[in-house]
Amino acid sequence: MSKVRVRFAPSPTGYVHVGNARTALFNWLFARHEGGAFVLRIEDTDVERSEKGYESQLVEDLRWFGLDWDEGPDKGGPFGPYRQSERQDLYAQFAKELVGAGRGYFCFCSAEQLEAERQDALKAGRQPKYSGRCRTLAAEEAARRVKNREPAAIRLKIEPGEFRWQDLVHGEVVFSSDVIGDPILVRSGGHPGYNYAVVIDDHMMQISHVIRGDDHISNTPRQLALYRALGWEPPAFAHLSTILGPDRARLSKRHGATSLQNFREEGILPEALRNYLALLGWSPADGKTEILGGDALAEQFSLAHVTKSPAVFDAEKLAWMNRQYMKGAAPECLARLSAPFLVKATYLAEPIAPATMAWIERVLDATLKNLDRLDQLPAATRLIFDYDATTVVSSEETRHVAEDPAARQVLAALIPKVLADESLTFARFREIAKEVQKETGKKGKDLFHPIRVAVTGAVSGPELEKLIPIFEEGAKLNLAKPIKSTAERLREFAAAARLE
Ligand code: GLU
Repeated sequence: MSKVRVRFAPSPTGYVHVGNARTALFNWLFARHEGGAFVLRIEDTDVERSEKGYESQLVEDLRWFGLDWDEGPDKGGPFGPYRQSERQDLYAQFAKELVGAGRGYFCFCSAEQLEAERQDALKAGRQPKYSGRCRTLAAEEAARRVKNREPAAIRLKIEPGEFRWQDLVHGEVVFSSDVIGDPILVRSGGHPGYNYAVVIDDHMMQISHVIRGDDHISNTPRQLALYRALGWEPPAFAHLSTILGPDRARLSKRHGATSLQNFREEGILPEALRNYLALLGWSPADGKTEILGGDALAEQFSLAHVTKSPAVFDAEKLAWMNRQYMKGAAPECLARLSAPFLVKATYLAEPIAPATMAWIERVLDATLKNLDRLDQLPAATRLIFDYDATTVVSSEETRHVAEDPAARQVLAALIPKVLADESLTFARFREIAKEVQKETGKKGKDLFHPIRVAVTGAVSGPELEKLIPIFEEGAKLNLAKPIKSTAERLREFAAAARLE
């Protein structure tokens, strides 16, 4: 058997959404599993909607997602160029050959004419289909009109019959030629039609398997007609099911985050997203393992376990999976992924010194269990970066600590002891708490609740055992938003609460 070669062929007309990200992922997993090649091809023939900016964005997003390609516009390769806009000559050449062989013909119908036909069909409840008006024009007349520079598209003649293929996901699929209008090969402006360019490219790039969304299923018979007309062997096809939102409507922006960029901004880890999207329509052979990190996805992936029923996107499941990956991530790796979120919150500024990176690891260790996604980090670390005693003594949630006599008693005993020391360790802090317990007779919640609120400004949060070293070490770093040490916090609190 010849080598497996697959491609991801996005049109740079917008951000990479979930459906396309999953298509890219399945192609990549299949290539990696089979030891084949994964090709990135940019389908930018829709000149009105394609934008260079989207192409660089999608390359960046795919890289973030963790996919790498063996051939592509940025890397080159033996079958380039990999941008359709740079392959126009090739399309023109084959279109000419098809016309010469009587398998293609010039079409002079105007856009208005075609639209009117389409509307008539829709009104009559028929599936719109090109009438074939120009199909019977005499070759000489067509040649004369082309010579007179009359705008002309080139269409393929669909021969009567059936188009049938063994889809690797859907099984046997059959279309009758009756429902297929003659597809456009080249538009009157010289740009190739999608169904045409895709066939030329898939053949010339020796693509063995076309894995794409099932919104393309009705294009496949048109493409098979082209393979037939050109005398080429078609690749295998696998059409992936639609992804639905929780309401079972096709997943769209109104369902929330749906593009790679959205997920990146939310602080979903790329590995978690790969794992989650892989399970949208595929399951491992045992049918139950859910966490498949590292190389496990590529090792286990097979088209045989891809289902044709629609997959439902579940943001909560993704959050759950993200939590698993955050917990399992190497601390330095997680710190690197987290830093941009703290920069965005203006807590830190670039460049981030190595000592700060090590400190972020500590911050993550303390706060991670409260996070589903990294974009929740600024809120979860507010008590580290944003302590303000005036707010603590005045806000609804915390002012009771400044007002309650028992709490004031605890803090009045604690604060001078903390302030007496140059620096504070958690061990010393625990000793001080014990002394305060003895002096005031308060213990448990009565002791620790006022302390927690005075030191952190919040009624709940990570263990003080983790927070105190974070405050102490953070205060020594030169951060965009300086960290207040435990002593500084308590000094501020004492002043704001007028503690003697
Ligand atoms: N450019 C097409 C798309 O983005 C590619 C379809 C295909 O894979 O053939 O939908």
